Amino acid sequence: MQRTFIEWQAKAATLTVDGRAFIDGALRDAQSGRTFSCASPIDGRILAEVADCGAADVDAAVAAARRAFEARTWCGMSPRARKAILLRWAALIRERRDELALLETLDVGKPISDTTAIDVPATAHCIEWYAEAIDKVVGEVVPADPHLVGLVTREPVGVVAAVVPWNFPLLMAAWKFAPALAVGNSVVLKPSEKSPMTAIRVAELAREAGLPSGVFNVVPGGAEPGRLLAQHADVDCIAFTGSTHTGRQIMTHAAQSNLKRAWLELGGKSPNIVLPCCADLERAARTAAEAIFFNMGEVCTAGSRLLVHRDVKDEVVANLIAAARAFAPGHPLDPAVRMGPIVDRAQFERVMGFIDTGRREGRVLTGGSRVREETGGFYIEPTVFEVNADATVARDEIFGPVLSVIEFGDIDEAVSLANDTEYGLAAAVWSDDLTTAHRVAARLRAGTVWVNGYGDGSDDMNFPFGGYKQSGNGRDKSLHALEKYSELKSTVIRLC
Ligand code: NAD
Repeated sequence: MQRTFIEWQAKAATLTVDGRAFIDGALRDAQSGRTFSCASPIDGRILAEVADCGAADVDAAVAAARRAFEARTWCGMSPRARKAILLRWAALIRERRDELALLETLDVGKPISDTTAIDVPATAHCIEWYAEAIDKVVGEVVPADPHLVGLVTREPVGVVAAVVPWNFPLLMAAWKFAPALAVGNSVVLKPSEKSPMTAIRVAELAREAGLPSGVFNVVPGGAEPGRLLAQHADVDCIAFTGSTHTGRQIMTHAAQSNLKRAWLELGGKSPNIVLPCCADLERAARTAAEAIFFNMGEVCTAGSRLLVHRDVKDEVVANLIAAARAFAPGHPLDPAVRMGPIVDRAQFERVMGFIDTGRREGRVLTGGSRVREETGGFYIEPTVFEVNADATVARDEIFGPVLSVIEFGDIDEAVSLANDTEYGLAAAVWSDDLTTAHRVAARLRAGTVWVNGYGDGSDDMNFPFGGYKQSGNGRDKSLHALEKYSELKSTVIRLC
């Protein structure tokens, strides 16, 4: 059932939120008693006081995860039983779609039309997809010498810590915990301090679904519990999604503690290339607007650099500006709204700082201002600059609704501009000549390349997701993600 704006507002007014950590199967306050306030970026309303976890809580969560792992309460269960529990969990998430979507929207300002249609169902789908893999991914029998039987089996690494950002709070978490749990690990999840709500709620649903105590724990808080997990001697693997700056610290902590595996999904500055051999420039421009303005531009794969051939630039820009109007910011509980507020004041000020820089570096084609200030929310107009490729706004990840348009003259220049970045998360190329498109795609140094689209297949779990260069290592999604959370064991049996 689709609710109206008024119905969503009424539901929001009566929502109660539990901000406690979830450790060893129970909701708990931080042992220090400390909390932090979780405010909505829509109007500044305090949604909850949330447990601010410190060393004692992280130790308790890791110890609970270790106990569950050693007792084999999860990894020792039959694959079919584990699959059934994860499927039940996903079903509960689907049943609670509206409650979880509302929490996510209130917590980070994402449009309710997105949280109901994308965030929550995609989270459930991710859990289902890995649940289904549990009793289908098989081991190997090695063609060893005739007197030997050689087996290669996949085993869980043990305790997995997942530290995640705020832009897709539930989904980014699920991309980590679903494959980790499918392999049989125990998990300690550290949501972002900007978006802890839904993680706590889904942990309760995990318990309801029958996940044994200690197998899935949530420790809310800021950088401190994240750092403590990265440094912890009893964590076997840390899976991180966030900024490249923090990723570098996580890897250092891992190296300086117990050499735990550190998997990093980091930032991006993705190029979207429009070649003159693209006939449908209106669609290319409309998609380019969606590529940067969807989720307020708070997307690691946002198409934040539009590289346009000079012959088609004017037409693309005219269509782009028209398409940007569909993203006029509004109250995110209004189902017609496609762009809500920026997640909080700090991020808002950061984005506005880049906009000020962009004004000095180039030309504003549309937007550039704060709007709806009277609501108390942090709304920014969809903003487009025309700049040179070396402008700050064309090089740094802004993580907001700000697009840089850069002109090029030929394909070699386009490829060179596209690859001239420390990042390598995603890219796109538009051309009706598939040979040209294919050749360009092959030259782009990015984990995902779209041809004549942007974001296609994002809801398909079969595609691995991750970055080249300083956009990270390893891959989320797909069966390849299972490798991050598995040890491969060779067992060699001598026959008498
Ligand atoms: P962030 O790096 O500030 O924080 C991410 C998480 O790390 C949060 O939970 C935070 O509390 C924690 N953290 C912060 N400092 C830490 C430290 N020193 N040690 C351990 N943990 C620490 O990133 P953010 O602002 O939450 O998210 C935005 C960034 O995430 C952007 O750069 C974006 O590109 C990236 N991102 C990447 C992907 C991807 O899959 N590649 C997906 C979404 C977001």
